[in-house]
Amino acid sequence: MKSNNTCAVIGAGVAGLASAIRMRNKNYNVVLFEANSFPGGKLSTESNDGYRFDMGPSVFTMPEYVDELFELSGKNPRDYFSYEQLDPVYRYFFEDGSTLDGYHGKERFAAEIAKKSSDERETIVRYLEKTEIMYDLTAEVFLHNSLHKVKNFFTKAVAKGILNFGKIGAFTTMHQQNTKAFKDQRLVQLFNRYATYNGSSPYLAPATLNVIPHVEIMKGAYYPKGGMYSITKALVQLATDLGIEIRYNSPVTEILLKDNKAVGVKVSSESNMFDVVISNMDVYNTYQKLIPSAKKPKKTLDQPKSSSGIIFYWGIKHSFENLKLHNILFSADYEAEFNTIFSKKEIYHDPTIYVNITSKHTPEDAPEGCENWFTFINVPNNQGQDWDAFIDQAREAVIAKVNRMLNTDLRPLIQCELVFDPRVIEKRTSSAFGAIYGNSSNNKFAAFLRHSNFSNKIKNLYFCGGSVHPGPSIPLCLLSAKITTGLVK
Ligand SMILES: Cc1cc2nc3c(=O)[nH]c(=O)nc-3n(C[C@H](O)[C@H](O)[C@H](O)COP(=O)(O)OP(=O)(O)OC[C@H]3O[C@@H](n4cnc5c(N)ncnc54)[C@H](O)[C@@H]3O)c2cc1C
Repeated sequence: MKSNNTCAVIGAGVAGLASAIRMRNKNYNVVLFEANSFPGGKLSTESNDGYRFDMGPSVFTMPEYVDELFELSGKNPRDYFSYEQLDPVYRYFFEDGSTLDGYHGKERFAAEIAKKSSDERETIVRYLEKTEIMYDLTAEVFLHNSLHKVKNFFTKAVAKGILNFGKIGAFTTMHQQNTKAFKDQRLVQLFNRYATYNGSSPYLAPATLNVIPHVEIMKGAYYPKGGMYSITKALVQLATDLGIEIRYNSPVTEILLKDNKAVGVKVSSESNMFDVVISNMDVYNTYQKLIPSAKKPKKTLDQPKSSSGIIFYWGIKHSFENLKLHNILFSADYEAEFNTIFSKKEIYHDPTIYVNITSKHTPEDAPEGCENWFTFINVPNNQGQDWDAFIDQAREAVIAKVNRMLNTDLRPLIQCELVFDPRVIEKRTSSAFGAIYGNSSNNKFAAFLRHSNFSNKIKNLYFCGGSVHPGPSIPLCLLSAKITTGLVK
């Protein structure tokens, strides 16, 4: 493909890679600048003492948006990567000693949960049908189009969403809707948990976010062969096959502007000129660090940021038969936990723990008879708290809880440890305040207050990734790349 059009993409996160691939398919010559020596941003990998870990995302939904990038490029996605559907997706552990398995599909999920809860099968089916209607009404408005182009509000699908605004739960919280739906408080907690998928509190976030379980339970959750990092590997391979140049160890320090137009990027004092610039760097830091003299959309940038995480990547010298790939060990008082994270901005003394073990599906990720534990708790973003003290506190709380709920003695089984906290996430991916998901969705206008995929002040400057519309997670980042590159003339 010969072309004179050029595009710089800043950052090889999943959205940056997808944007580069889409721009190449629009016949642009693309250079992808990545600050790190490795690709993927949050979707990266590390090894330690014979164990391999996926460092960020672990739940893979809507794989069709990855496949689409290969199909668009005339390639067979299965030549690059493959995945299997999970069923069950999760095992949930509660402090009263009970467990629930979250199966795929409305009927299987409802049958299993009803058998083990005080709610009827019909209640659960009705709830999932309601979330499906909400999804169908909101997807076109909130996921597939720019929310910031007036013409998009005049399409039939968007008009339908807007006319049915009352049905999408914008005026009530997730918790209020879930409390109304279920008698069994464990189900309220189980569905409230989906607020954490974009770093928000179910006690503040609009019930519209109850569409998230629809995606996971009804559309399905998947496991990429070889682990989550194989998504990054496949996208890098595709980008390379398409002739995209990826420059590692190349932090962009400035977006070059001329007459209110983006005209290039500066890397180690070298100016590189381009027709179009797409930033996959967190939008807050793009404004602060790369275009400090530009007028800032203050209201958008100053929105409260999402939660972050403390993650212990543990090599465990034991195999736990009762654990699956995805496991949740719930706290006894969810409201107090979220209040501690979002109001006090501290870590909760008895946090809900997510344990992800890829060696259950990819045995090579751990030595024989051992497991690679990705052990995650939700914490506030970085406001200068004493993180070293929080990490010590979290480690003790997690070990005590695992011992209690799984009836084990974990400490002597921990062979090695890596730790991520908001400071590390901030440094490694340039995410403002180490927030994992950009702005939080803790108010009903949050979706409208995410930054657009383009600059309305600087021509030829675009944004993609989890800090801009439509939001965080692998599928939404891939959709952001689709919307963003669709806006480039
Ligand atoms: C612990 C954790 C768990 C998660 N769990 C899930 C999950 O289960 N499922 C899910 O779908 N999502 C999950 N997510 C969210 C998901 O990982 C993110 O939304 C998504 O990966 C963000 O991708 P991105 O394209 O916005 O860029 P990022 O991954 O943030 O990457 C940005 C890239 O840009 C580079 N960069 C930044 N500034 C510059 C610069 N100036 N010059 C050059 N390069 C630069 C960075 O080095 C980085 O490589 C999780 C995230 C984390 C951290």
